[in-house]
Amino acid sequence: MRQKIVAGNWKMNNDKAETKALIKGIKKAIKKLSLKNTRVIISPSYVNLSAAIKKADNSKIEVAAQNMHQAKNGAYTGEISADMLKSINIETVIIGHSERREYFNETDAILAEKMDAVLSNGLEAIFCFGEKLEERKSENHFAVVESQLKNALFHLEAANFKNIVLAYEPVWAIGTGETASPEQAQEMHAFVRETISKKFGKEVADNVSILYGGSVKPANAEEIFSKPDVDGGLIGGASLKAEDFAAIIKAI
Ligand code: PGA
Repeated sequence: MRQKIVAGNWKMNNDKAETKALIKGIKKAIKKLSLKNTRVIISPSYVNLSAAIKKADNSKIEVAAQNMHQAKNGAYTGEISADMLKSINIETVIIGHSERREYFNETDAILAEKMDAVLSNGLEAIFCFGEKLEERKSENHFAVVESQLKNALFHLEAANFKNIVLAYEPVWAIGTGETASPEQAQEMHAFVRETISKKFGKEVADNVSILYGGSVKPANAEEIFSKPDVDGGLIGGASLKAEDFAAIIKAI
């Protein structure tokens, strides 16, 4: 059975004290929930990962990184390697978020290398992709998503997918208050599953979790999550408040 996942992408928010306080709040808010087959992930900034791991200890909350460099080590000022993440017990990394693609020039080719680095280090990737507004308006969204998947993932092996979570995040819905309708999300998720199935086989496609991201809130989460190919969400803004994040987890 596919895992359900609610992941919070904190982006560049929360200092150390705020990180600890938010985790404390989430822990309290989800304590009584029965979370069978459901994972809860948060991704604080690099500098607070260690504190977050400590604070999330003995809870359902897993801690992920927001990015990682593809090189093993070396002269890459400001960057973080897989070994560094592993050394503080991080097991999951978000790769290819649209803000990384847009502001930090992460191309499909770089993302393919990052996927290799994540997977060869035994880490798990939450791989993000999604079309921009003009690409949806011109009805190129399926072609864009297909090429993002092909360029960054199609060189991998089927077995790699046990360590891959996919996250469809239409750029026009991120932080804009504009959400893809549950039908639009389902339509794209079904297309993604079909694309993965054609290349890697039905078993891989049936087992890979596909998250939706883009202005998911307590008010719309349940309807989006009710769609058969939507296995959870990658949550930005609404993951920064314990009650909102917990309400989204409840919705799943
Ligand atoms: P949002 O962000 O929920 O604030 O739209 C989602 C994301 O960027 O992962």
